Amino acid sequence: MEPLRSYVGGRWQLPTDEGSALYDASTGREVARLSTAGIDRAAALDHGRRVGGPALRELTFHQRAALLKSLASHLREHREELYELSARAGATRADSKFDVDGGIGVLFTYSSRARRELPNTTVYPEGPAEPLGKQGTFLGQHLASPLHGVAVQINAFNFPVWGPLEKLAPAFVAGVPTLIKPAEQTAYLTHRLVELVVDSGLLPEGSVQLLCGNAGDLLEHLTEQDLLSFTGSAATARRLRAHDTVVRNAVRFNAEADSLNCSVLGPDATPDSAEFDLFVRQLVTEMTVKAGQKCTAVRRAFVPHNRIDEVTEAVRARLAEVRVGNPSDSRVTMGPLADLEQREEVRRSLKGLLEAGRLVHGDPWQPVDLVDADYQQGAFVPPMLLRCDDPELAQPHEIEAFGPVSTVMPYRDVEHAAELARRGGGSLVGSVVSADREFTGRLVLEAASHHGRMLVLNDTDSAESTGHGSPLPQLVHGGPGRAGGGEEMAGIRGVLHYMQRTAVQADPDTLTALTGQWVPGSGREVTEVHPFRKHLEELRVGDTVVGGPRTVTDEDVRHFAEFTGDTFYAHTDEEAARANPFFEGVVAHGYLVVALAAGLFVSPEPGPVLANYGLENLRFLTPVYPGDEITVTLTAKRVTPRHNADHGEVRWDADVTNQHGESVAKYDVLTLVAKRDSAEQR
Ligand code: NDP
Repeated sequence: MEPLRSYVGGRWQLPTDEGSALYDASTGREVARLSTAGIDRAAALDHGRRVGGPALRELTFHQRAALLKSLASHLREHREELYELSARAGATRADSKFDVDGGIGVLFTYSSRARRELPNTTVYPEGPAEPLGKQGTFLGQHLASPLHGVAVQINAFNFPVWGPLEKLAPAFVAGVPTLIKPAEQTAYLTHRLVELVVDSGLLPEGSVQLLCGNAGDLLEHLTEQDLLSFTGSAATARRLRAHDTVVRNAVRFNAEADSLNCSVLGPDATPDSAEFDLFVRQLVTEMTVKAGQKCTAVRRAFVPHNRIDEVTEAVRARLAEVRVGNPSDSRVTMGPLADLEQREEVRRSLKGLLEAGRLVHGDPWQPVDLVDADYQQGAFVPPMLLRCDDPELAQPHEIEAFGPVSTVMPYRDVEHAAELARRGGGSLVGSVVSADREFTGRLVLEAASHHGRMLVLNDTDSAESTGHGSPLPQLVHGGPGRAGGGEEMAGIRGVLHYMQRTAVQADPDTLTALTGQWVPGSGREVTEVHPFRKHLEELRVGDTVVGGPRTVTDEDVRHFAEFTGDTFYAHTDEEAARANPFFEGVVAHGYLVVALAAGLFVSPEPGPVLANYGLENLRFLTPVYPGDEITVTLTAKRVTPRHNADHGEVRWDADVTNQHGESVAKYDVLTLVAKRDSAEQR
């Protein structure tokens, strides 16, 4: 069998030796061979920087997002193949959905969030411009631009599809090329994934490369512009973090390591309550999905001391129903571990845990009762539940058996439960299963410092809950301390991880030119053609319409109050309004001001403006009294063409002033505007 090829330098490269064998986790048969002999890692990084980076940086955020969406659809069409290969790595159909569909889901989510939350440009202005001088001629603006290096990802064996994709998505949106190094045991699955990516022809050359085999001297070639993201053991994370080149070049490093996640059952749960059942079911799921080889799995289950017998018994009864075997068999609900070495590792860790607790279900030294007895040579273990009656002992809070292993322990009260949760030394996720809001509130607040994510599970949210073990692209995945001290995904925050934030200090016009977004104080142009009569392509940031002045009358305020029913005293009762510390008499409604302003800037006939879809950052700054004259200045602030749509978004800066030139209201108006081409096509 030929060894797996690496995709580097723009072509598939075969190693120069025959490599070592990788085996099917159930049958023990050879599945693939692996080696990196003869693969030039420095050249791969160089190719990413020289070819992939510039090609990606040419594209806007929205163009990159559109490519991710196409890639996600392409991969979805080839899911079956990936599921089948996953079975060789020990994954049941449900497990591989977690890995394969989960990974594809991250691509879809990042694609849609990038198009909704990022401008259609190549640079991201973060936050508003900060005024730095009194005259408004000197401002500061944070800008995020893509790093000019390669995002190197070193992945764990347990999620060979989700792992690479959850790191690729934000890097790609940011405009940074990726080099994937999968873990040895399951590299053949990541290899197939990258083959599908390359064959799709969708992504720019150099934006994704694959190094199939060990890292070798890869890290020695990292520069200050490269990034290193790692998932795996805490020991390897330590080694990589302290690598000479990583330290010398201050390479941006993110780690997600093993953690001793907990689940806490609230004191309110009785054996016949919904929460008791949810706790037990979730624990069994977390123990058995991917045969417990999940960085988010529940390793420590804390229960009220008077419930430990009932919980242990209920979990034991459910575990007895788990059917272990070759995952290609549809009757199987838990597959084997990734390989025999991993089984040895689990047995070793279990010995440590047994110094503190005792096994109440499963024995990894006995032959496993398999659905199909033909596979005794596979890396099978039963699910294993331990009970430890002294939660102060160190082992359950320190030893992670990376398999279907959990320890049930008692706690006294909420402080004790929180203290035990923190004993994990930093976790990816913790669950509180309870309907007692006082208990959950205190526990979450007291344990949050040690967790990247916390799930409160009860009868109210259980039907929609995505579960303890599922990292979501919208939310932070990572945790402090033992969990690696990193953060992944978390929506657009994850994209910014791959970018450099630069504080640019300049005059307003320079900032507008740099960001493509109108900055207050920079030039406006009151154009001859009303901006509402311009299609998206014709609009320029800074295009302005000035409407007014218009006098706000007593009658306007009275009519608005009666018409809308908003008869709040400040708009209707002169004496009461005067008694208010902020007003000198009856004031116009803020909404009346906004409505009148719309009447002043609108161009009413049908045209390219399709809809007003909202206002943002609305502030009423100065009261408007009957008799005041208001004027509105509306300036195109940001024009965002939507990729693959016949319209785009235009954000307008609205400034309503009174006869003294004071701003009475400021806000952004959000509109949808048609592209010219679409009008011609219609
Ligand atoms: P490792 O930390 O040994 O390996 C993870 C990745 O790091 C692999 O791609 C591995 O490559 C690579 N790697 C290892 N050493 C180096 C190095 N010196 N330089 C560069 N890359 C390196 O974890 P394992 O996958 O072997 O799993 C061991 C334990 O880690 C498990 O038993 C479990 O406790 C924990 N783990 C935690 C995970 C999590 O998600 N937090 C996931 C998986 C495991 P290669 O395979 O080529 O050696």
